[in-house]
Amino acid sequence: MIKVCKFGGTSMADGTNMRRVADIVAADDSRRYVVVSAPGKRFGGDTKITDLLYETYRNVAESGETGEAFLKVKERFRGITAELGLNYEIEKLLSDTEAEILKEKSEDFTASRGEYLSARLTAALLNVPFIDAREVVKFDEAGRFDGALTDTLLKAALKGKKRAVVSGFYGEDAFGKVKTFSRGGSDISGAIVARAAGASLYENWTDVSGFLACDPRIVPNPEQIRALSYKELRELSYMGANVLHSESIFPVREADIPIRIKNTFRPEDEGTDILPTSKYRYSGRTVTGIAGKKNFTVVFIEKSLMNAEIGFTHKVLSVLLKHEISFEHMPSGIDTMSFVIDSEQLKHGVLEAVCEEIREAVHPDNLRTYDDIALIAVVGHGMSRNVGTSARLFQAIANAGVNVRMIDQGSSELNIIVGVDNENYERTLNAVYDEFFKES
Ligand code: ADP
Ligand code: ASP
Ligand code: MG
Repeated sequence: MIKVCKFGGTSMADGTNMRRVADIVAADDSRRYVVVSAPGKRFGGDTKITDLLYETYRNVAESGETGEAFLKVKERFRGITAELGLNYEIEKLLSDTEAEILKEKSEDFTASRGEYLSARLTAALLNVPFIDAREVVKFDEAGRFDGALTDTLLKAALKGKKRAVVSGFYGEDAFGKVKTFSRGGSDISGAIVARAAGASLYENWTDVSGFLACDPRIVPNPEQIRALSYKELRELSYMGANVLHSESIFPVREADIPIRIKNTFRPEDEGTDILPTSKYRYSGRTVTGIAGKKNFTVVFIEKSLMNAEIGFTHKVLSVLLKHEISFEHMPSGIDTMSFVIDSEQLKHGVLEAVCEEIREAVHPDNLRTYDDIALIAVVGHGMSRNVGTSARLFQAIANAGVNVRMIDQGSSELNIIVGVDNENYERTLNAVYDEFFKES
């Protein structure tokens, strides 16, 4: 039996926490391959190493120097090495890294050094080989993750190694340059290693005892979810439950490897199991979890008989394509259609240009936009089994005095998404949570 363990930023934040990591790995012989993040926050108000590295890159781009931010990075790694009492040439590693950052002048390369350095130190602490993700995690010429090549290279690198530490978050593109995943991407690296290792379990160690039914920063003490399916995880994490990166299921899904979320600070707690959808057993709960995100814009288009107009949708989508805009949802009616778009993509006059071009392309009777919209996803396989779920949902939102601005029931019958004004986001989440979780 092989387990792959990924340790997140808080687990790597300082020497004391890294000792916990070493104890967790040592406690179970099957914990053979370890994937690590860069050191995260040690306390509220602290800065993650990765954020300091993005700042380092901005300094390099502006002034050609790594600046104050990189001094802080060096201090953190010196501190960790000293705290662990590691006999390690940390000064040389740091100065070599700084020289490379100045030479590469690449944002991804700079950001990746947090994981690189923390993996080097973890390998030294555990006294096991270090595998540089650059050598084994590959992206193709278009910048897409190359799963097949990565799997072959990783399998070869792991072969014959009883234990190893692999750096998370980054790999190398087809041109030999370091490339990172999106933020939180070490979760994906862990899943990639789990797949290549043929693991029977992917343990994802973090700072909470599992996946909670709602964001604990918004709903006080939400219930813990004991088990959820890959599909439920995908919906919840995509919609903001960032305890696990939403793309981390793809590598493990192909091999049916379950994921277990565990707490580095309470290793005895059971955690949450994320299971292949076929192995998932109905929990008896109508709703498994609730997640959400703020700051969306809805572009609403109305035109009589739009359905009869061949190519109408195509013309509208061509405008979005031209501006390289992706949309989250597209609720539509007979004579209406709307797009829900992350407002970030519409800044600096893009929204105005898009509206103008849609007007020219399809001559709508009416085109309106609403911004400051928050989306809330209510997710669960149980929803389709229980009659009256949406009635309960909308009643709870109405009772909280909140106006629903948009509704989209996913074609998977696994989720219902509602749009409310940003300012009602927290109130709505709490109301929906109370309705479905304070029932028994
Ligand atoms: P790591 O650095 O270990 O990868 P993250 O900070 O990425 O950890 O993810 C863990 C955090 O996710 C928790 O501390 C918690 O604040 C947040 N979080 C948001 N939604 C949820 C949820 N539904 N369940 C658990 N944690 C959540
Ligand atoms: N260190 C990276 C980040 O902060 C990746 C990760 O922690 O998963 O986003
Ligand atoms: Mg994370």
